[in-house]
Amino acid sequence: MGLSGATLGAPGRVLVARTELSDAIVEELGELFVRELRQAGSELVASDLDGIARRLQELSRRVLGRVVEAVVTTIAAGQPVERPACGQCRQPMRAVAPARPRALRGLVGDDRVRRAYFACDRCGHGVAPLDERLGLGAGALSPGPARVACRVGIAAGFGSAADLLHETLRVDVATEAVRRVTAGIGAVAEAEQQAAMVQARAGQPPPPDAAEGTPSAPMVEVDGVHVHAGGDWHEMQVGRVAPLGPATRPGKGTGRIALTLGRQSAGAGLETAALFW
Ligand SMILES: [Zn+2]
Repeated sequence: MGLSGATLGAPGRVLVARTELSDAIVEELGELFVRELRQAGSELVASDLDGIARRLQELSRRVLGRVVEAVVTTIAAGQPVERPACGQCRQPMRAVAPARPRALRGLVGDDRVRRAYFACDRCGHGVAPLDERLGLGAGALSPGPARVACRVGIAAGFGSAADLLHETLRVDVATEAVRRVTAGIGAVAEAEQQAAMVQARAGQPPPPDAAEGTPSAPMVEVDGVHVHAGGDWHEMQVGRVAPLGPATRPGKGTGRIALTLGRQSAGAGLETAALFW
């Protein structure tokens, strides 16, 4: 059996955590795959290559969706049992359901994960702590399809993202859901940017970009333009920031060595020039 490892839960009780899938579950999932493949056999043989791939994609989504559920159930069984404190008002929360289902459209299958759900009687806030452990945000899309929906939604429109998700991953998602997930990820990015701005205003250096190494210096360009908005003219600050160096390149025709300019970011704002700086 796959029962191994033990962790201490609430005082006085020992919580046995599964650190791998049980043999029974693995065998059951294997039998499901065999059953599905037998059922699809004649249809596969009668199809062209595109038909074969699509039929297998449907089949694997059904089987792997069950695998995801089994893995999440195993993880959930090893989670601490104590009630969490409310994130809003710090009150101990009430256990509402030990295994509340949540339907998800995932990268490899559609699944229904089951996890403990708690609610705060004072402010009505509800939470499933396992969602954070799983890296789940709001909405019905799991992280993989959510990233695809967001990237394609921004580049080509929300309807195109929904079509692409169906065409490539067989994930069926409404255009409105793509819009919501894009707005949600955008809000997180905006919050990170605001936090970096607060840090910069306080005179602290911005977090380093691991991919680009530590720049020798930041290059900052700021200018003002006049924009007409709300029936009046306003001065809008526009700026460009990029890391300068540490890589170098020979200057064109001069023979001098110049620092290379890294990935540039641009911004605009209606705040005063001093604040924008
Ligand atoms: Zn609360």
